[in-house]
Amino acid sequence: MILTTPPGQIGMKLDEVDTPALILDLDVFEANLAAMTDSLDGYEVNLRPHAKSHKSAIVAQRQMAAGAIGQCCQKVGEAEVLVHGGIGDVLVTNQIVGRSKVERLVALAKQAKVAVLADHPDQITQYAATARDLGTELNVLVEINLGSDRCGVEPGRPALELARLIVETEGVAFGGLQAYHGGAQHLRTRAEREAVILPAAAMAEETGTMLLEAGIPCPVITGAGTGTYLIEAAGRVFTELQPGSYVFMDLDYGRILDQADRPITETFGHSLTVLVTVISRGAPTRAVVDAGHKTIPIDSGLPRPLNRPGVEYNSPSDEHGVLGLPPEDGLAIGDKLRLIPPHCDPVVNMFDWYVCVRQGRVEAIWPIGARGANR
Ligand SMILES: *Cc1c(COP(=O)(O)O)cnc(C)c1O
Repeated sequence: MILTTPPGQIGMKLDEVDTPALILDLDVFEANLAAMTDSLDGYEVNLRPHAKSHKSAIVAQRQMAAGAIGQCCQKVGEAEVLVHGGIGDVLVTNQIVGRSKVERLVALAKQAKVAVLADHPDQITQYAATARDLGTELNVLVEINLGSDRCGVEPGRPALELARLIVETEGVAFGGLQAYHGGAQHLRTRAEREAVILPAAAMAEETGTMLLEAGIPCPVITGAGTGTYLIEAAGRVFTELQPGSYVFMDLDYGRILDQADRPITETFGHSLTVLVTVISRGAPTRAVVDAGHKTIPIDSGLPRPLNRPGVEYNSPSDEHGVLGLPPEDGLAIGDKLRLIPPHCDPVVNMFDWYVCVRQGRVEAIWPIGARGANR
């Protein structure tokens, strides 16, 4: 992996860090890890956070230290970074297609506990043939479609048929059901989320029962994200939860209400920001910073300056972001400020390093090892 020079060094003041830089506030990050662990106290369910949010074996290790049993990821390249970084249990929550990717996945399964998803016999055939060729066995979960209409076979009989195929095919082992409902995660209120997740969980449970009656025990039912995980936890159907964004809590997620109908940011704080520099001041109400589309993706809205009331980030271009300012604002060329990103997962993919800060000083620099790992 080719990495650039870090934008700062341990011991520096935040203000001395070069920009744009991805800043992780360690106090807020650690509070988020603890808040997740605390919120699951009393529930008999395992935590398997999603590494697509952070792409880093170091963040993964911190989650493991806070009680997680393993990690999820989307890409074989992410799984490689996690396993090489010492994570012993990785679920790739995706369908992996193509000989070279499946070979890498199976090779990884010889080093760690690795599992993958299927929603069609063709994937199972390729997983099994590759695993047999490499002299091993791959764990495969059947993904069921709970209404998100992304991947997933229909629950009930179609899922049973796929599970049976896995059980009967040499080279693959049946690992359980993947039952993630992506569409429900950002629904704003508890009532809206429950209206989707409760029937979805019932479908997952019925499918699990149908498997058992057919003689196929279902060891794992896994799913959920930051928006809904407490609903799945309380329902006793799910054995594992997969929240990802809670570690960073981006701006868009921060707009939802938690299970007690309070802002979710009262539980999970914005630990991730992008440090930027003012490079131009063309008018009393206008400043330009050094971060545009190539630094902060805006698929989920625009970023918001941290602790800068009245300042708005508008109209980005490739490498510029234009700030709208109150006329009396004293922002000068060379000043730095932090932007809360609208969507944590894609912004992390833009940087090689987390600059980890505590009380305004750089405490650590962590590589984002799986940055760009989209294969
Ligand atoms: C993204 C994703 C998650 C995590 O969701 P968050 O909303 O970021 O917490 C969990 N499982 C799967 C399959 C995902 O794609």
